[in-house]
Amino acid sequence: MKTFVHRGQITKVVFGSGTRSRIPEEADALGCRRVLILCTPGQAGQAVEVHDVLGTAAVGTFTDAAPHTPVEVTEKAVAYARTVGADSVLAVGGGSTIGLGKAIALRTGLPQLALPTTYAGSEMTPILGETEGRRKTTRRLPEVLPKTVVYDVDLTFTFPAAASVVSGINAMAHAVEALYAQDRDPLAFLMAGEALESLTRSLPVVAQRPDDGEARADSLYGAWLAGTCLGTVGMALHHKVCHVLGGTFGLAHAETHAVVLPHVVAHNAPAAPEAVARIAGALSAPDAASGLFDFARRLGAPRALRDLGMPESGIEQAAELIVRDGYWNPRPVERTAVRALLARAWAGQPPCASPGDGHPRTESATHHPTTTGARHA
Ligand code: NAD
Repeated sequence: MKTFVHRGQITKVVFGSGTRSRIPEEADALGCRRVLILCTPGQAGQAVEVHDVLGTAAVGTFTDAAPHTPVEVTEKAVAYARTVGADSVLAVGGGSTIGLGKAIALRTGLPQLALPTTYAGSEMTPILGETEGRRKTTRRLPEVLPKTVVYDVDLTFTFPAAASVVSGINAMAHAVEALYAQDRDPLAFLMAGEALESLTRSLPVVAQRPDDGEARADSLYGAWLAGTCLGTVGMALHHKVCHVLGGTFGLAHAETHAVVLPHVVAHNAPAAPEAVARIAGALSAPDAASGLFDFARRLGAPRALRDLGMPESGIEQAAELIVRDGYWNPRPVERTAVRALLARAWAGQPPCASPGDGHPRTESATHHPTTTGARHA
């Protein structure tokens, strides 16, 4: 018998092509009459287009969203929202822009809509990561969950192929960790498997033909499912490693996920047989970890942390930070094993099971000491 607790999502999702034309009615359905649009400087063009769609319901555009949601940017955006009398925000972009929308919502209580343009999945999670000075903190807060998410495949065509590949692998990482989450439930398991199927099927096509509509739709669909997994169940070692590496060395978010994922799967494999069987099945590969490594390599994703700018001397420091706080992982997280995993990922070597206690375990029998589900996004 399966015993589980499932937490349902309350976000309304509209998915399709040309769906940005529905933004006015979706805003109206939430009672939003004065919408502030958010974007990064690079997506100002897309924001103008959405501004035109909204017409008089758009009261301004804030174009300074930045990676890792710096608090000083949020404060400027909140001041601007007050100046223009916004009653809601609409994030047009990836995780950086959606993070800004969440940070504004937390401070003002304004409802949010999101029009995601990457595969990061933040729009489906109640997770907010913010940076103050050099310190990044991550929290799970139900009040930051967007009310309505409109996925418009058309907006992803401009996302460059190389960035799409690593963003898609970032989404796959959410699905992978959902398969062995401490609080995994049958629905999250199904969604994660379907996310992996659609992303492994479509990303190779997107890498070759970024304007292929079917493949773009399939990738965005997988990203939605994977983001929902991230928002529903707790993550584990992989997200912790990426959080530490991003925060400590300023490594690019999606690229870091792409490099690290096969190595963590190799580490966790002995303790998560059902999960690795599902991953291998989705990849049509005999082994989940090497299947993921080969998949990323075939698609031209970066393979080595050193190529992302991490110094070799950082391996020791990162290993210390990764094992310092208690969090759940299917296999105990020990410093020697984490150091070995990082060394391989740093050098771009293929994954192999890390030295650890060496005893394969069943998924239900392994608990790392202190807290439940990691919160690193
Ligand atoms: P991003 O939002 O920083 O976007 C990367 C770059 O691509 C930006 O310059 C952006 O303007 C550009 N871009 C995005 N979509 C585009 C498109 N369709 N066409 C052309 N250019 C486009 O990257 P991301 O990977 O989506 O988000 C990363 C951030 O999101 C990190 O800070 C990460 O911590 C956070 N994140 C949070 C969660 C969560 O649940 N809280 C989940 C995933 C990621």
